[in-house]
Amino acid sequence: MVVCDMSEHACHNPNCGKPIPPHLVSHSSAWFALPKKLRDDIWRTYRAGQEDDKRPTMTYIDALDACIKFWRENHTQCRIPKRTVSRERIHAIGNRVGVREN
Ligand SMILES: [Zn+2]
Repeated sequence: MVVCDMSEHACHNPNCGKPIPPHLVSHSSAWFALPKKLRDDIWRTYRAGQEDDKRPTMTYIDALDACIKFWRENHTQCRIPKRTVSRERIHAIGNRVGVREN
């Protein structure tokens, strides 16, 4: 069993570990790489509000453990979506550091 500290919420994919919102298990690319059965197990054992009181059920932790094992064995990497930045902001950054626009 993996003991996880849920106070600082990071992606549960052992090949990633980047921060994500507390209601997510992993980045979506790793999540959808899981077999459907493992995803179903997570949904079945998930208790609403567990990310607030930090008390997930033991069955949930077991389900999560199976997911982590899958990611580790398959060397699943998260494809993290690039944050969209507005054009104005890109221009502002360019002006500040003196980068010429192409
Ligand atoms: Zn991730």
